[in-house]
Amino acid sequence: MSDSIFSNYINGQWVDGASSIINISPADTSDIIGHYAQADKAQTEAAIDAAIQGQLAWQESGLEQRYSVLMAIGDELIARKDELGKLLAREEGKTLAEGVGETYRSGQFFHYYAAEVLRQMGETADSVRPGVEIETRREPVGVVGIITPWNFPTATGAWKIAPALAFGNSIVFKPANQVPASAWALTEIISRQGLPAGTFNLVMGPGAQVGDVLIHSTKINALTFTGSLETGRKVAAATAVNLVKCQLEMGSKNALIVLDDADLDNAVECAVGGAYGGTGQKCTASSRLIVTAGIHDLFVEKVIARMKKLVVGHPLKEGVHIGAVADARQMEQNLNYLAIAKEEGGKLVYGGDVLTEETDGYYMRPALFTETTNDMTINRDEAFAPIACVIKVQDYEEALATLNDTNFGLTGGICTTSLKYATDFKRRAKTGCVMINLPTAGTDYHVPFGGRKDSSFGSREQGTYAKEFYTIVKTTYIRA
Ligand code: NAD
Repeated sequence: MSDSIFSNYINGQWVDGASSIINISPADTSDIIGHYAQADKAQTEAAIDAAIQGQLAWQESGLEQRYSVLMAIGDELIARKDELGKLLAREEGKTLAEGVGETYRSGQFFHYYAAEVLRQMGETADSVRPGVEIETRREPVGVVGIITPWNFPTATGAWKIAPALAFGNSIVFKPANQVPASAWALTEIISRQGLPAGTFNLVMGPGAQVGDVLIHSTKINALTFTGSLETGRKVAAATAVNLVKCQLEMGSKNALIVLDDADLDNAVECAVGGAYGGTGQKCTASSRLIVTAGIHDLFVEKVIARMKKLVVGHPLKEGVHIGAVADARQMEQNLNYLAIAKEEGGKLVYGGDVLTEETDGYYMRPALFTETTNDMTINRDEAFAPIACVIKVQDYEEALATLNDTNFGLTGGICTTSLKYATDFKRRAKTGCVMINLPTAGTDYHVPFGGRKDSSFGSREQGTYAKEFYTIVKTTYIRA
């Protein structure tokens, strides 16, 4: 490892890149987090070759070894949650509490999959042919390419790396180039666990360079991607040509329905927390608030009152609820969507202004629009911003139809005290996750996570369902 540049990790060695980038905090552009190596084509290919070499040794290292490694990684993430959470908050811009929470959650993913290591069972069956027995067992899929986005720099890596290792695979990990520090810190922990060389590799760099080599590789066996729909389509196309197993988690346009009979205070908390938590930069954020006419005005009034209490500021400052926008490009996109929403007839009733803080960063007051319709651009595109839009509807049926009228389908929520509507919603919402009297954002680590339509492709992530992606089934016939 070089003194001044955080290196890539290939075949058990820290390797300087062909070039490097400066990682700057979006909360304070004078805060330099570090210089991070950038892999080129040759290094990315070397990482893939190393993963091929390292996979079998890891697969054969034994369950106890795999269990211990995953537990140790989880233990360290949790023990260092304050330090690593701070690093995460500095580089991504989310609040310290969110950064610490994400690091803790990342540790929990490793603990969960440590236990899964010991739950790998096969099945047996009699053959239709007398005297023949059959067994089915799962084997590692092989070399897994992992590509992650910037908004959950540690957790997205963790929920992919932990099951990949648990099921005996080797890994080439390419994190988003905006947030290499969290990925590097996780890699550094993994590098001290005595894994066979090549089992885990980190290649940092731009998607169009490092990611492109990975998704077009004929040597990897599976590719798991989280990011935008636009990139997801490229990943699906590239991996399909080579018949590489592929799993995509992408964007969304999640909605929260608030019915006349809702517990109003809870609905307001769900809406504000779901829309603006993580600066609105969550794939599960409630960017559409679909509200029935009877409660609409009071709901809007209370949401605005609640928003006025949200403190925007430097992520590490005490009392701050909303940190910085992730970078200049994202800020520009936010402002562009604000302009489009106004142009198309939305009424900006709160926020949306660019804020000047003590440090030079990208700060925006959360914005609320009313008088929007579901066909407006702001209600179709994923803005990935602290912007929410209220859509007024007449009744539950119209609310449900509006919620489902989108090409995305990750999460959907409803606030109601009616068992009838809650039950109906649970069945008819066309989303992968359904939230009743809860924010659309905020999921557990031991159950499946994923969406429908353009939000997801391939088998589910997380929980026991992850084994579908990270393993391959073998059927063996035995005549005694
Ligand atoms: P992005 O698609 O721009 O980038 C995601 C990753 O893909 C990055 O590592 C990037 O470097 C890489 N990449 C970019 N171009 C590539 C290419 N041509 N070939 C290979 N790799 C390439 O997304 P982003 O802006 O980093 O993240 C935001 C998006 O992620 C949002 O749409 C958000 O909804 C989504 N997201 C989804 C989930 C989920 O689980 N559904 C979770 C978090 C974020």
